[in-house]
Amino acid sequence: MTVRGIGKASIAKVEELCGPGFKAGRMFPRFNQEAFDAQKHWMVSDHVEPGSDRLVGSVHTWIVRTPHHTILIDTCLGNHKTRSAPNWNNLNTPFLDRLRDAGVAPESVDLVMCTHLHVDHVGWNTKLENGRWVPTFPNARYLFARKEYAHWEDERRQKDAQSVNGGSFDDSVLPVVEAKKAVFIDTDHQPDSLLTIEEAPGHTPGSIVIRLSDAGREAVFSGDIMHHPVQVYYPEWSSQFCWDQDMSARSRRKVLEHCAEHHSLLCPAHFPGANAGYIHRAGDAFRIEWDRP
Ligand SMILES: [Zn+2]
Repeated sequence: MTVRGIGKASIAKVEELCGPGFKAGRMFPRFNQEAFDAQKHWMVSDHVEPGSDRLVGSVHTWIVRTPHHTILIDTCLGNHKTRSAPNWNNLNTPFLDRLRDAGVAPESVDLVMCTHLHVDHVGWNTKLENGRWVPTFPNARYLFARKEYAHWEDERRQKDAQSVNGGSFDDSVLPVVEAKKAVFIDTDHQPDSLLTIEEAPGHTPGSIVIRLSDAGREAVFSGDIMHHPVQVYYPEWSSQFCWDQDMSARSRRKVLEHCAEHHSLLCPAHFPGANAGYIHRAGDAFRIEWDRP
């Protein structure tokens, strides 16, 4: 397992799933075949399935350990959950065993943070116990961005459970609130002396970016501000799952500019392969230099 250091903190990744998903042309409403083909030489086969243009994506959790806390950022899909997408339905993966192998027992997690509340970022917030959804990490506080939570709570008032983030608001978010483990945070909240939070709306209304900084080094956990590394090269390509295409593109560019300026390690939620990298300016856009420790 790859463990990266940022000052006194460490970062590791636990994967739930990885494989080819949507075709690029379906994923990005602003897709352009010629532009996509120009990047294929480095994307195939780690990031694009050979012959199909299907985008390879990973679903993973970032473990951050600081001198004070063990923190999980984004909690994947979870087990035994009814989902409409066949490859996400009723999963039974050894995710918790992998987490333990990484040295993290569920009881040892202090903070769970979700960059946003989509289905593939909240799943392991809860587990099934005696027919009920209960918090998977019994000693953790779960930090939800207030604006993000309010948006989905409002959606839920108007729609049935399955229509709100594939049912995950009801089985992976509400049970945490009911167990009184949720803390609603604004972006001025500092959960650890090494962590800061920034608003990055567009993919969802209340998406956040989490920064880990120590000893002059920084890592940026960007959630779904980008789904795929081709978006580093074409930052205007928002995904079909973005709530607001233009706002999402503005947030993406802002995160990329920040990473390029500060030599920050970009740690997105779905990049496979090396999973993280450094961003450099390239004309009007950017390029990624993979971090392969
Ligand atoms: Zn996602």
